[in-house]
Amino acid sequence: MDKILFLISAFLLVWGLRLQSDPSSASKGNKLAGIGMLLAIFSAIIMPLEESFSNLIWVVSPLVLSAIIGFYIAKNIKMTSMPQMVSIFNGLGGLSAVLLSYAEINKWLINPDSYQTEVVLVLIISLFIGSVAFTGSLLAFAKLDGYKWSERLTLPFQHIINIIFIALIIVISFYFIDDNSAQSYLYIIIILSLIYGIFFVAPIGGADMPVVISLLNSFTGITAALTGIIFGNIVMLLGGILVGAAGTILTILMCNAMNRSLLNVLIGGFSSSSSSKEDKEQGDVKEVSDSDFAVQLFYSKQVIIIPGYGLAVAQAQKLCKEIQELLENNDVEVKYAIHPVAGRMPGHMNVLLAEADVDYSKLIELDQANEEFKSTDVAVIIGANDVVNPDAIDDSSSPLFGMPILKVWESTSTVVLKRSMSAGYAGVQNPLFFKENNKMYFGDAKESLQRLSTELKNL
Ligand code: NDP
Repeated sequence: MDKILFLISAFLLVWGLRLQSDPSSASKGNKLAGIGMLLAIFSAIIMPLEESFSNLIWVVSPLVLSAIIGFYIAKNIKMTSMPQMVSIFNGLGGLSAVLLSYAEINKWLINPDSYQTEVVLVLIISLFIGSVAFTGSLLAFAKLDGYKWSERLTLPFQHIINIIFIALIIVISFYFIDDNSAQSYLYIIIILSLIYGIFFVAPIGGADMPVVISLLNSFTGITAALTGIIFGNIVMLLGGILVGAAGTILTILMCNAMNRSLLNVLIGGFSSSSSSKEDKEQGDVKEVSDSDFAVQLFYSKQVIIIPGYGLAVAQAQKLCKEIQELLENNDVEVKYAIHPVAGRMPGHMNVLLAEADVDYSKLIELDQANEEFKSTDVAVIIGANDVVNPDAIDDSSSPLFGMPILKVWESTSTVVLKRSMSAGYAGVQNPLFFKENNKMYFGDAKESLQRLSTELKNL
């Protein structure tokens, strides 16, 4: 029976993941994968307890309690804090891998015939990766949430210290496997691995955390897969492989979309990048008034909105939809150009616009958008900056150089909504703001869109 349930839950997990690759079916995919996970928990944890009914309460109560806590957190989390939540959940996954590996290694210590040496080695690897994912994710959470102390943990020669730590962990692990009476070695491995997790994440810039979280997520997947092999649990193995592969692919995609190597992210490259025109005088910017902006939009044929991180910060997605509808009522065609790394997590803008019930058919991807700008009257950039920076094409010394971007300036005109002239994530100034056909509409995106909406209604 449990084998059949494993198979069904494995099918649901894979099918759920498949559906999640399209925004219109993602929600259904999420629910299917959730049912798959419930079945997996039932068949792997609850079913084996039927003979020892008294233990059931000890297993079910924490499961129910943690499910309630998880549900409450997920329900109330702000969209801009999603990476923090993923980070904490991921860290807990790492911790459970540590506890499982620790319990199994202890079995081997009590009865050395219970596992072969190769299996113990796999358990130690799982223990190590789980520890790194645990403390690394906690530090990633602290950095993302803006805790000042978390940016000050880097030691001088950090990368050399990290290599020494890895070497120490490998050597002590082999001593431990060779002499299993020395249990203290096990504790040393755990402590060193937990510290290594902190050292691994410490040098990485706070803004690079989404990439790191994705990488740590893939680590947790790998430990789950390793533990699945040891327990002979197919769902755990399969789930681990899926998480490990998805996390790795996502990490690579994010690095590609930012035109950076993973190594560059891991050694904290972006913050130290040179920024060619950062301090150069680039001329004056022109501002647009509320009424001029509203008239310009109202009499356009096609308008493309480019949402960015600032739209998420301002939580102005509903107002954005309202303006879309006001324009459509006047026969203006409105589309949304979605850059793959706009915002702070993959799919950030898709989720944000879905929250406001924006129709998926209105969302166009980078290549299509770059085709359409040529026939667009106004490109409205709301809280986006790096993803529309022409230096990515024009300036080989820019940290953004080579990153595929939205060529908004090919539209007849552009209007940028942001609060000030501050830089975006990459920390560099944007020459788009100074272009002849660009105007700035300063203010918090929510307040600005509210003003614009009022003007449009008065036309
Ligand atoms: P950026 O971070 O480049 O720029 C966001 C802009 O929004 C800022 O210049 C800011 O200007 C403005 N802003 C902030 N708050 C508000 C507000 N309340 N109202 C109006 N404007 C506001 O964002 P992009 O989306 O253009 O680019 C994303 C960047 O993040 C890229 O560099 C990408 O590589 C990086 N990144 C993305 C990841 C992902 O998975 N999506 C992962 C890791 C990194 P001001 O302060 O003047 O208002």
